[in-house]
Amino acid sequence: MGTESDLRRHDLLIDGERVPPGSGEYSVDIDPATEQPIAQVARGDATDVDAAVRAARAALTVWNRIRAGERGRILMRFADLLRANEQQIAGLESLDAGKPISSALRQDVPAAIDTLAYYAGWCDKINGQVVPVRPDALTYTVREPVGVVAAIVPWNFPLMIGMWKIAPALACGCTLIVKPAEVTPLSALRVAELALEAGVPPGVFNVVTGKGSVVGDALVAHPGIDKVTFTGSPSVGRGILQGAASNFKRVTLELGGKSANLIFPDANLDSAVRAAASGVFFNTGQVCSAGSRILAHRDVYDDVVERLAARAKSIKVGDPTQRETGMGPLISAAQMKTVLGYIDIGRNEGASLVTGGARIGERGFFVEPTVFANVAHEMRISQEEIFGPVASVIRFDDEADAIRIANGTPYSLAAGVWSADIGRVHRVAHALKAGTVWINTYGYTDVRLPWGGAGDSGFGREHGDVAIENFTEPKAIWLALDH
Ligand code: NAD
Repeated sequence: MGTESDLRRHDLLIDGERVPPGSGEYSVDIDPATEQPIAQVARGDATDVDAAVRAARAALTVWNRIRAGERGRILMRFADLLRANEQQIAGLESLDAGKPISSALRQDVPAAIDTLAYYAGWCDKINGQVVPVRPDALTYTVREPVGVVAAIVPWNFPLMIGMWKIAPALACGCTLIVKPAEVTPLSALRVAELALEAGVPPGVFNVVTGKGSVVGDALVAHPGIDKVTFTGSPSVGRGILQGAASNFKRVTLELGGKSANLIFPDANLDSAVRAAASGVFFNTGQVCSAGSRILAHRDVYDDVVERLAARAKSIKVGDPTQRETGMGPLISAAQMKTVLGYIDIGRNEGASLVTGGARIGERGFFVEPTVFANVAHEMRISQEEIFGPVASVIRFDDEADAIRIANGTPYSLAAGVWSADIGRVHRVAHALKAGTVWINTYGYTDVRLPWGGAGDSGFGREHGDVAIENFTEPKAIWLALDH
């Protein structure tokens, strides 16, 4: 790797052009696996946001003048271009976010393509209704795009979660400004170039990189933004909701989680523990729906702890570019500090550290897959989102106890239930506070199913037809038939 001045400079993408930031400043983007600089990325500010909003407002008319079927064909071409460039995009995502290349190729990129193809199909199916009200009037509804959207994206799945916002917004005729997380800007910039190549007109899809507290804040405060779609932490989400009140922007918030995975004694323990391990260690635990609380019935508790620890030890942690790597680094030094801090908290709270607990090596932000046993429900490691490879295994006595513990955090995003009793799995699935419940499986998402939570996990849903409602406004039209 060369010096910082050798690194490729990534400018903003506004109105179809790569433009340098008004500030003239760039941040150095680093590879979390090696801590080496990989790129220089424009540090946008409020002036750049203003330019992007102006471009996006002007492009609304252009984008909506295109026939719905043609918009769908453009988005399908965009999906095809992602597919044609999947190796490159997976490589960028893996480098920037520290994801194992196998995960980027198997999960992130295909999910982004699927999302885009799915919403391409929606473009010409966004219908209104004729609603008969009275004999002397024709009354009907149309769905109009909400307007200019700010999409604020986290660093854990920059491409996939970005596309959960980009694809439905474009399908509904909105224009948008994407603000990727400061540490993972590369895939959004590349994808926006592909959108242009596919025929998305300039100004429809803009990318402004930079700090959340500067670019994100300016987007949320801007009167020219009609909707903010945000995925990230509860604390930033709260600020966004308050900021968006200035001009009553529409807001959807996908925030954190502390999901519980409930293992009953009649579960298939092999499958349950395999899924529980990937549920908490996948993407180095940096997953909003990570099953970070594993609730095991007292009859199988010791067995679950032992098997989980064995699985944790067997995970191959290391270089994300290697196909056999199962777990990469955490995203940043700051995130590593937070995770190691929580491991100390767990020890001090009296939980038993069964395996892991330490940084690996001195270069790259690697932390061992960690399992705590004898975790009490009230402990901070059981209540707070760690966002790292740390499992808390909690003992429960019966179904009611399991439900009480599972529902006993401020979050409400996802949960898992493992049991062979068909009555029990449905009973428990209904009783759990969660936007998604997995029964005898864990961790799947699909663009056709609603995704989101309640409480500290935010509100609103992404995916499916719900997202079409998020990005459109219904309008009622009355026509007098005899005037
Ligand atoms: P974060 O809240 O720190 O950042 C998210 C985005 O917000 C980034 O682009 C950041 O630059 C921006 N931002 C920061 N400050 C801002 C401000 N003042 N105004 C506007 N934007 C601002 O979150 P993160 O650390 O990137 O992601 C981790 C969090 O995201 C975790 O809590 C995780 O659970 C959550 N998450 C939730 C889901 C879900 O679907 N519910 C999915 C993935 C991640």
